[in-house]
Amino acid sequence: MKQTKSMVLLKHHLKELKLSTMHDECEKVAARCAQDNVDHLGFLLQLCELERIEREKRAADRRLKQAKFPNLKTLDSFDFAAQPSLNKSLISELMRGAYIDERESIIVIGNSGTGKTHLATALGIEACGRGKKVRFCKVIELITELIEAREERQLLRMKKQLARLDLLILDELGYVPASKLGAELLFDIISTAYERTSLIVTTNLPFENWTEVLGSERLTGATLDRLTHRCHILEATGESYRLQDARRRKNRKTLPTARTQIGKAISKAK
Ligand code: ADP
Ligand code: MG
Repeated sequence: MKQTKSMVLLKHHLKELKLSTMHDECEKVAARCAQDNVDHLGFLLQLCELERIEREKRAADRRLKQAKFPNLKTLDSFDFAAQPSLNKSLISELMRGAYIDERESIIVIGNSGTGKTHLATALGIEACGRGKKVRFCKVIELITELIEAREERQLLRMKKQLARLDLLILDELGYVPASKLGAELLFDIISTAYERTSLIVTTNLPFENWTEVLGSERLTGATLDRLTHRCHILEATGESYRLQDARRRKNRKTLPTARTQIGKAISKAK
């Protein structure tokens, strides 16, 4: 009876203290500890561990949501054999995230469909799991957002939000040429991030063509200077994964047909 009263009170305190996992689990853990002869320190330790695990999990989920990834692709589903120009050991090293602590950046270059977004997403998800604040943006959408924020006199606020990130992923630099204002706003974000926030930039453009997107040579030079100062370059020179995949499927389809034809030929010969 006394124990029940203590439990009710304990749960009340835990609720007030916002220790929700401890609140939810304390009865179960208490019963288990009594059964296993675990002393009170062991009991408290188990409860604290559960609370921390749950909190870390929730924080990681929150970071993942705030990062706004277009999908949740990881390296597990990435086929390195399909893109042999990529340095697999460098990518594994980058997954460990030290580049973020060093404020280094990554540029992923390659044609459409070569896995740039997939890689950038995988690196970003891993960073979230390691406690980093990440945001994934398509360049064109970021530029639109920046222009809108400027019109609504919210640019400073938006820039402050971006400056709080550990890693900013700029996907698809180069698909659409930016307007003069857009290029300047983007440059501003890149130079603010310089040596403070890591960037991952994916692009289908060789460096010599960046002027086409950013407009002025001066801006392109300054952008490249900042981006490439301390950066890792991942280059996918192979062809589109979708194309390779389509070919594989086609080959698979033709195989049974070929076999059927052989079968027919054999039965005819008989
Ligand atoms: P990009 O951003 O370079 O245009 P994506 O990353 O969007 O290319 O890749 C296109 C599609 O092909 C995606 O569904 C992606 O998951 C898949 N893909 C690309 N490369 C690979 C790869 N090497 N292994 C597995 N899937 C890949
Ligand atoms: Mg892409």
